Amino acid sequence: MRELHDKIRNEGIVLGEHVLKVDTFLNHQIDPELMMKIGQQFADRFADAAVDKVLTLESSGIAPALMTALVLRTPLLFARKQKSLTLTDNLFVESVYSFTKQQKSDVTVSRKFLSPGEKVLIIDDFLAHGEAAFGMVRIVKAAGAEVAGIGIVIEKSFQDGGRKLREAGFRVESLARIASLSAERIEFIQQAGM
Ligand code: 5GP
Repeated sequence: MRELHDKIRNEGIVLGEHVLKVDTFLNHQIDPELMMKIGQQFADRFADAAVDKVLTLESSGIAPALMTALVLRTPLLFARKQKSLTLTDNLFVESVYSFTKQQKSDVTVSRKFLSPGEKVLIIDDFLAHGEAAFGMVRIVKAAGAEVAGIGIVIEKSFQDGGRKLREAGFRVESLARIASLSAERIEFIQQAGM
């Protein structure tokens, strides 16, 4: 997505060689017009997947996932990150290691919002090692539902999450794929239609 590439190039801040800060349009302040275009792109790419529901992880996945759900005309469900759970009877719970916080947290979804047989499209803002995405996959499977696909706004292709998800057989669509990051330059993997 050219507009997304331009935005990342112009406004992204590289922290170390592994982390990209995009808090001007995605992770803190949000650009609604860009989010709408992102939602449209995901909806187009997964148009044939018969999606029943969109699932993301709070909080940064919500904006792109909401726009995708709006275009697909499905509900949006976001998994919650919670600490020290006691009552888990009515929840699907998975432990997920956070790349940015470098700690594990429990990720939960109420059992009443995922049903067997539903086709669930997983959306997230970033893909690094795949921990968040695999956590959501485990929740979908625990519900007896099906993963329709995985849509990622920014995939850091130099980390192994994309490879692991694709090798596991999931259809992963990333709108920007970053080959390498440095303070001087953000290198993209060019994709068809760019
Ligand atoms: P993973 O679980 O694939 O290792 O990492 C993805 C999750 O960590 C995303 O949900 C995202 O919130 C966060 N994340 C990973 N890498 C980055 C990054 O470079 N920048 C930002 N802002 N978040 C990231």
